This record gives sequence, structure tokens and C-alpha cells, in this order.
Amino acid sequence: MSQVETHSFQAEVQQLLQLMIHSLYSNKEIFLRELVSNASDALDKLRFEETTNRNLAASDLENAVRVSCDEDKKMLIIEDNGIGMTRDELVSCLGTIASSGTKKFLEKMSEDARKNAQLIGQFGVGFYAAFMVAKSVKVESLSAKEGSEATVWESSGDGSYTLAPGTRTARGTRIELSLKDDDAEYASDWRVKSIIKKYSNYVTYPIYMLDGEGKEDRLNQSTPVWARNKKECKPEDYTELYKQISMDFNEPMISEHINVEGLVPFQSVVFVPEKSSFDFNQRDTHGLHLYVKRVSIAEKCKELLPEYLRFVSGVVETDELPLNVSREILQQNTKLPAIKKQIVKKVLGRLKDLATNQSDKYISFYESFGPILKEGFHFDFENHEPLAELARYKSTRTGKDGWVSLAQYVERKAAAQSEIYFLSGPSYEAVERSPHLEELTARGVEVLFFTDPIDEWVVMSYTKHSAMDLKSITKGEINLVGVGTEPEASKETEVPAEELTGLMEAFKTALGSEIKDVKTSKRLKESPVCLVSDDHAMSAHMERIMKATNKDFAGTKRTLELNPNHALIKNLAKLSAQGGNEAKVKEWVDVLYETALLSEGSAVKNPGDFAKKLTRIMETATAQM
Ligand code: ADP
Ligand code: MG
Repeated sequence: MSQVETHSFQAEVQQLLQLMIHSLYSNKEIFLRELVSNASDALDKLRFEETTNRNLAASDLENAVRVSCDEDKKMLIIEDNGIGMTRDELVSCLGTIASSGTKKFLEKMSEDARKNAQLIGQFGVGFYAAFMVAKSVKVESLSAKEGSEATVWESSGDGSYTLAPGTRTARGTRIELSLKDDDAEYASDWRVKSIIKKYSNYVTYPIYMLDGEGKEDRLNQSTPVWARNKKECKPEDYTELYKQISMDFNEPMISEHINVEGLVPFQSVVFVPEKSSFDFNQRDTHGLHLYVKRVSIAEKCKELLPEYLRFVSGVVETDELPLNVSREILQQNTKLPAIKKQIVKKVLGRLKDLATNQSDKYISFYESFGPILKEGFHFDFENHEPLAELARYKSTRTGKDGWVSLAQYVERKAAAQSEIYFLSGPSYEAVERSPHLEELTARGVEVLFFTDPIDEWVVMSYTKHSAMDLKSITKGEINLVGVGTEPEASKETEVPAEELTGLMEAFKTALGSEIKDVKTSKRLKESPVCLVSDDHAMSAHMERIMKATNKDFAGTKRTLELNPNHALIKNLAKLSAQGGNEAKVKEWVDVLYETALLSEGSAVKNPGDFAKKLTRIMETATAQM
């Protein structure tokens, strides 16, 4: 190759460049973060290659990123002695879009371009960000791989770039930006220094600023935060690292620096956010950034963090693994579980401190991440105890905005209460007035509301707290004799026994196979009827969850409980005992059953039919007014 060749950019690159050049971004300065991070990646790749390949080109210089400015010429130069790029690599890396992150960015941008100008800082848009500030960019690179030749890549960000032979003899890459007149500030020493401090302080290689005489001034910290002594780290150092790795603009709620010297020594900094970020639920990966001997090994190492702590981000460095560790080896490695265990313990411990000392903050966290945290009950038996200290619920006593912990619940339980009562449903509003609560509330017994879908799974794994069983109030028998404040004996007379048996038979005939049985109730006060599941059956709420994912899911039959003190039940019993009005009684029984379904949040089978029956009943009632 001896002359200059011109190539066109891939269409997607052209689209990206258009955005870079013609849109106004508030934080253009991030272009430098991108170029420094590429230089640092190139140095990482070199170190990684060196572990297996002895024939790489050597360098006279310390591995580093070197930056220099020329204010008069409006030039900024970023150079590294990393792995470099061959001619083919220049074509594929700087002529097409390889990074999936950049692709995602493009998709977001075209949907909602102007408004999302902020996004540019959150997605690393990579090399092309240089064109936000440069009218032309020249890249000269020599790959460290044997037999490579230097190549110069040049473009002014229009549709094409050129390739030509270079003169470079040292391995690595030099990027020269000819800045636009309006962006000449990026050729000023102090401006460049402050941007590097802001975004690239944690970079593991030295970043030097070269002055006119070739003196080197180091801009970033010599050691990354996690590898430093805790006492030497300032809160800002952690915040900076957090913003780098989490794509969150807010401060982290918790920063925990872990330095373990035991059997498996490691250093780590982990973060917990206070709130969920805009894209939290779309992220399919969780884990911590794993470094071995300052080399980045895996950005999201799942072996270091359980899924139920997927809101945690951070870094782990250990020298206990070989540098060229593969994914399979990571999965089989026995040291990572030991590290993971300690990290989980620390994170749960810090959350507990927060819950104790800054409950407002904790609750704000819990409102975002509580349902995720509770998955831990199902997957992490070892940590049931700390998780139980972290769980919070709404209840019959907290009101809509309050929360109660299991410990508080036990502390204020009613006299002689031996079970922890809960009621599950889709929301606070859906359970707050449930008929099942009536007798318990009258006795001053608190009932927890399980309104996250995960709660039903939690009680399957976590069935007892402080030696008290967790008991669903919509299932099985409930024995409240002597529990809490004994309600005054009802002045009203119950239905005569034989009339009640008659009515119960009428219910069974009318409802047939819809229900399992009919019984008198110990949990009702104001409502005439409610439905109760067997002790070991699924609750109605759980059945609804199952039905939502599986249309053919057949629920179990439940028992209908009658309140023998309720006027309606008494009247019905009398009517049914008189005989001769079976059709009417059946209609009323149907409607009663259907209101029991509605009051627990279940659907009636035939809403049109239900509405007609209800209308007829109202008609009869109004006619007698
Ligand atoms: P990303 O860094 O996300 O892969 P970039 O657009 O920043 O995307 O860079 C594209 C590719 O160009 C990199 O993956 C890398 O292969 C190559 N590259 C960029 N800068 C350098 C450099 N200084 N040294 C070696 N390769 C580089
Ligand atoms: Mg990059």
C-alpha cells in the first residue's frame, strides 16, 4: 500500500456522525473520556495478549496514556502504547459500528432525538464522539502484532475517511484532533486536566499531560479507589467511581469499601442506589466488574453477585485468579463464591444500618427495590435472617403510606397471639377492606398486607418468624378465641340451628361444584360471606397470578363461610325454611357468592349475568320502599 485510499463509512456511522456534528450537546466534554477509555482498553488488551503471546512488539515507554495540547494550533493529541490497530482493524473499528452500546444509543436517539441529548453521556458513544469537537481527526496506529505496518486513518466526519501508510515505529495509537473554532477550549491544558480528573481518574494506567519540553505531569490517581487504603479515600472518590460504572447521575446511597485479607484476599467497592434508574428494568445483566491484577476481566461478573442484589454495582479486584481466565473457568472457580458471600454480607449489613439509622432513606430505597430484595428469601436460605430484618410491609395499622417490619409486628402483637397474620392481594386498596379482616381488626390484631407478587413465593420459603408461623387469613381454620381484645358478645341472636343447616344445604345445591363446602365463619363481622382456601392450597391471589400466565390453570375449590349474625343470612335462612321460593333463594345465593368473589378481588364468571341478577334484586327492594 503506497497511496492514499478513500473509503465510505457504513450508513449507520454516517447517521451517528450527523448527530454528533449537527446536534448541540450540553456535555461535549465526554468525548475525551471516550478516547481515554479506548486508550486504556488498548493497554488492557496488550497486557492480556502478553500473557499468551511472547512475540508482541515491546515499548521503551511505561504503559500509559499521554495527552498533549497545542492552543495555538487548536490541536489535542491522545496517544497510547497499547495494542494498536492493523490496517484492517482501522477499517472495521473506525469505519463501522461494532459496539452494541452504540447501536442502542442510535435507536434511542432516533426515537426522541433532542430531548434525549443527555443520553449521550450515559451511553458510551465511543470514538465518534471526537467529531463533536473536532473538524478533522487523524489516527495513526501500529499494531503490536508481529509484522504489522503503521497506518494513518483520517476523516473530517463527512461521508468518508482515508487510509495511508504511516511512519510510526512504536506500537500503539496516536489520535490528533483538529478542533473546531468554537471548541478550541479543549486545547487548553487546564480544561483538559479538569475533564480527565472528572471522568478518568479511576483509569488504571497513568494518564500524563506532556508539556512543550516533554515533561510528564500525571493527571489521574496512581491507584484505583478500591485498591487504596480506606482512610485515604474521600466520599467524592467513591461518587466518581460510581458515576463511571453505573450510568447514574445521582450520588450512590451506599458506598461500601471492602478490603479482605483472609483466605481469598480481594478489594472491592460496591454501591447501592437510592432509586431505580430509567433503564433499570431493561438491563438484562447484573454482576460486578472483575479485575485481576489491574486488568479488567469481566464487566458484569455474575458469579460475584446474586440476582436479588441486581441493583448493586461495583468493582472487585483479586489476584487469586489467572489473568487469562475464561468464562467457563469463572463459573467453576471456587474463590468467587467466597468473595460473593462476603459482599452479600456487607451489603445486607449496610442496608440494615440504614434501615435503623435513616429509615426515610431506607424506605425510599425499599419502595424501588424491595420486591427484588425479597427474591432473596427464595434463593438465599443462608441469609434469611438479615433479609427478614430488611423486609417491610403495609398492614391494617400502617395506613397507605406507612410500613412495618416483622420485628415491630412481633413487638406489638396482640395478647395471646401466636401467629403472624397476612392477607395477600394485588394492591393496598384491594385488600384494605377485605371481609376476612373483620374479626381480626375487631380484636385489635394486626394483619400484614402482601401486595407484591413475590410475597406469595416468599412465604413458601420463609414460613416462620420469631417462632411464629406466617398464616394467611384467607386459608384454613383461624382460631381467635382469647386472642386480643375479646369483642362484646353479640346482642343479636344467631339463626336457629336447623334453619342454618337448611340454608347451608340451599347454598350447596345452588352453587354445586363451584365450592368445596359451606361453613359458619369465625372471621366475619360486617360481611355476610367470604371464601376461604384450604390450609395448603393456593390463595385466591396466587391463583390469579397463576391464571395470568397460564390460561388453562384450574384453581382449587374453596369453602364459603357464612356469618350467622348477619341480618341478610338470618332473613335468607328464614325464607329458605319457609320453602316454596327456591328459585329466588338460588338467585340470592348466587349473588352473595359472587360478591364474595368480588370482595377478594377475583372476577365473577359471568359479569353480565351478575349485573342482571343484582338489578332484579334492587328493583324488588325499591318497590318495597
Ligand atoms: P468501544 O470502545 O465501545 O468498542 P469505540 O467506538 O470507542 O467503541 O471504539 C471502537 C473500537 O476501535 C474499539 O473497540 C477498539 O477496537 C478500536 N479502538 C479505538 N481506539 C483505540 C485505541 N486507542 N487503540 C486500539 N484500538 C482502538
Ligand atoms: Mg470506547
